[in-house]
Amino acid sequence: MSKPKIATASLAGCFGCHMSILDIDERILKLVELVQFDKSPIDDIKNFTGRCLVGLIEGGCCNQENVKVLRDFRAHCDVLIALGDCATMGGLPAMRNGIPLQECLQEAYRDGPTVYNPSGQIPNDPELPLILDRVYPLHEVVKVDYYLPGCPPPADAIWDVVVALLSNKPIDLSYGLLKYD
Ligand code: SF4
Repeated sequence: MSKPKIATASLAGCFGCHMSILDIDERILKLVELVQFDKSPIDDIKNFTGRCLVGLIEGGCCNQENVKVLRDFRAHCDVLIALGDCATMGGLPAMRNGIPLQECLQEAYRDGPTVYNPSGQIPNDPELPLILDRVYPLHEVVKVDYYLPGCPPPADAIWDVVVALLSNKPIDLSYGLLKYD
């Protein structure tokens, strides 16, 4: 019987949540016995090869490409998980949400103290994904099934959630995996 598939993506995130996936350490050997990785930076598969049981998404949506990838995950995954604070509420990238977009671009590419840009040109190549007016958490773009908080969520929490979904059991994270102090 073929193994269920799992897919992951990093949108407007820092890859710290993916590092936390890898922090399950030797359990990754058990994981690859239980599942087959589909589209993911972990195996560098760029396009879905079929239907996935679980999609784990790190980061919110800051540009048009993020929205496209997120909708693709929603279309291909039975269960979609917002992995980490950026995915669940925008996180650090959403600190720009209170500042007009034009001001953010000017600070990043023209006026910032470490910027050297004699032409004053703000990047506008048509190949670049269109930046959004603000950073959107996943649930403002598609339906999300589960939220796993933390920056990043602990590896044990990711492991427990994935194993529960694979075993068709209720997700019941211990208090220690959900408290932050
Ligand atoms: S939640 Fe934290 S670790 Fe995860 S992508 Fe955002 S900043 Fe990085």
